[in-house]
Amino acid sequence: MTSLPENLLSTLPEFLTELHQRYIDLDEGKVANYIPELAKVDPSLFAICIVTVDGQVYPVGDWEHIFTIQSISKVFMHGLALEDHGREFLLTKVGVEPTGDAFNAIILDEASKRPYNPMVNAGAIATTSLIKGHNPTERLNRMLEMFRRYIGHDIHIDMSVFTSERTTGNRNRAMAYLMLNFGMIDQRVDENLDLYFQQCSLMVNCQDLAVMAATLANHGINPITAETAISPGYIKDMLSVMYTCGMYNFAGEWAYRVGIPAKSGVCGGIIGVVPNQIGIGVFSPLLDFRGNSVRGVKVCEALSDYLQLHLFE
Ligand code: GLN
Repeated sequence: MTSLPENLLSTLPEFLTELHQRYIDLDEGKVANYIPELAKVDPSLFAICIVTVDGQVYPVGDWEHIFTIQSISKVFMHGLALEDHGREFLLTKVGVEPTGDAFNAIILDEASKRPYNPMVNAGAIATTSLIKGHNPTERLNRMLEMFRRYIGHDIHIDMSVFTSERTTGNRNRAMAYLMLNFGMIDQRVDENLDLYFQQCSLMVNCQDLAVMAATLANHGINPITAETAISPGYIKDMLSVMYTCGMYNFAGEWAYRVGIPAKSGVCGGIIGVVPNQIGIGVFSPLLDFRGNSVRGVKVCEALSDYLQLHLFE
């Protein structure tokens, strides 16, 4: 098993503390407010966590603070849909092209009528609608069980955020009906949307994010519990889509500057995956106009430089 080189590992705690100090006063950006419950978050929260594929955990800052996972869940639901249906079938329902548009844009591919990719809302609603199960409870439980394997402990839904998403989620509802019209999702529109809102409302902390990312870095095996969370054969599909589409309409510049597969969410979280080495989690709720955490992007750029993480380094 590999991880980071020994000299970098030994200086990592110090470097993470310094990085946290370096950006703690950066207060640019705004917390997400289009879902009323999200607007209540304390904007000063800030955490960074790295987990190595051999199970070492390096947290700094408010790593115990719990928030809702939001769009970061899209990566893992993509994985579950791949396991449920396989790659070829999934490709008939959701594309793998970056959009260059906002995450909540109401657009489908002109020719195929597929949503562009599983990392934007439309695509995530489509992958979520493919999750197998005989009824809403069974589908919900399969989802919770999948996240439990990645995180290594039970996971719960924040009911206030879920209710807030459901009452204000008309844009997502519009996308779902558009996709129903084109036969991209099935008739269970409300059930599918509920599962989508539930996945966005799962409660995690920054260390959980890093463990989930490290599980993807470690061929699908959770490095803390040694439990398999996803069949290893699908990880390259998940990481490819993260790499090209995971950071909304900043994905190109991210690939250029940071150079690792990553996914952000409007909670202010970012996960980054460095295969065979580490998983990264960052949490800071102040977002730029694209919906990415301002401090999160800075931290990942600095980490990529210091640890030489860029894929093409
Ligand atoms: N729940 C949010 C939504 O569907 C997720 C968005 C996000 O994190 N980008 O609007």
